Amino acid sequence: MGYRKNETVTADIIDIGQDGAGIGRTEDGYTLFVKDTVPGDRAEVRIIKAKKSYGYGRLEHVLKASPDRVEPPCPVALRCGGCQLQMMSYPAQLAMKENKVRNDLKRIGGFENLEIRKIIAMESPFRYRNKAQFPVGTDRDGKPIAGFFAGRTHTIIPNPDCLLGCSENREILNAILSWMKDNRIPAYDEETGKGLIRHILIRKGFATGEIIVCLIINGDRITASQDLVTRLEKIPGMTGLTFSSNTKRTNVIMNGPVKPVWGQEYITDILKSGKFGISVRYQISPASFYQVNPVQTQRIYEKVLELADLHGNETVMDLYCGIGTISLFLARNARQVIGVEIVPRAIEDAKRNALLNGIENAEFYVGKAEEVVPRLENQGIRADVAVVDPPRKGCDEKLLETLVRMKPERIVYVSCDPATLARDLKYLSENGFRIEYVQPYDQFSETVHVETVALLTRTK
Ligand code: SAH
Repeated sequence: MGYRKNETVTADIIDIGQDGAGIGRTEDGYTLFVKDTVPGDRAEVRIIKAKKSYGYGRLEHVLKASPDRVEPPCPVALRCGGCQLQMMSYPAQLAMKENKVRNDLKRIGGFENLEIRKIIAMESPFRYRNKAQFPVGTDRDGKPIAGFFAGRTHTIIPNPDCLLGCSENREILNAILSWMKDNRIPAYDEETGKGLIRHILIRKGFATGEIIVCLIINGDRITASQDLVTRLEKIPGMTGLTFSSNTKRTNVIMNGPVKPVWGQEYITDILKSGKFGISVRYQISPASFYQVNPVQTQRIYEKVLELADLHGNETVMDLYCGIGTISLFLARNARQVIGVEIVPRAIEDAKRNALLNGIENAEFYVGKAEEVVPRLENQGIRADVAVVDPPRKGCDEKLLETLVRMKPERIVYVSCDPATLARDLKYLSENGFRIEYVQPYDQFSETVHVETVALLTRTK
């Protein structure tokens, strides 16, 4: 065969890869990964990297469009690194995610006949994010811009209106950019390390409408801040302005404390379950981890509560608990909740939010779940129900071993990566637990991510 760089070939897109790029085949069976293509497309592709058995290509023309192909609603969809699936219809995205869960459970977990329920979709696949972080830079004419990094680079694509974010972002960004322009406040420049404004972080409480802005600055104070407050105050929902200093030459966005400029330093949000009559308030500061899609999060938490099947006398462990959002959701229906999380600041938030809600039966521990839970076990503490919500790498095997010894009646597994979910479910199913069913959720439409909740019950 032997293809060369810059050669143009025709490829049929037959599948989609981990990162959302289409997987195509040429006439003679060579595999090409092509961004911005959809399974079912026939495309003219320019080869940008050719290896022996596969290569990477750039889409030149769609020769025949897949029935699942749609026009991306966002004008910068193809250049921006944020979304991967905007050219795919929403039903096709959902089918793809459901398939990914099914395939991973089969291929990695060896599960052939597991009950995998239909993925829970979002009502609308846009405007779902409650948090946005916009890098700030300068365009060729010296005007400040804000937007998103182009895929895999640090070039800023100006875009004040990301369609995944809330519609207020545009007005807020424009107010900040015009304040910068009028007061000659320079944007940070990664090349020289000079300039002041690095990032704009915006957070909205969907249930309360409260919005806070945090400016990440290369310095220790904001000049002309009163003028900025005057401009922001007028925007409905604006609740507070804060800033955080970051003078390091680093890609880490925020690494110091958050300081107040005006108004509240946090937003309040409320997550509810109508079915269980539960409503929990959370105070979220700019640096806190908080789920970005509160509508689907609420559904997932309600599902966790249903699957935990609490009657009021249980000890529940919420492992990888973050700011304790799930713990506090479960607390009213349990005797005791124990949350474990590795980030100390998240545990401070969890404790404060427990107080805010008058919840007294939740305890929180800082540390690795795989270290804290064995320690609790040694103290004779046992979980009747365990909830785990690990990061993409899944649960540490030491934690799974401890859970197997601890023999909770049920384990509710919330996963953001079906591959590690499959690996962990395999281990648990070989060690005394039965997988009742698996429920995928679409929490991040237009991206390749899929969230899955699984229920395991003890068999011996
Ligand atoms: N359940 C929370 C957070 C889930 S995200 C929520 O729904 O909001 C996963 C969390 O696991 C993160 O907060 C991360 O900091 C934490 N984490 C990562 N590794 C960990 C470990 N080994 N032990 C405990 N927590 C860990």
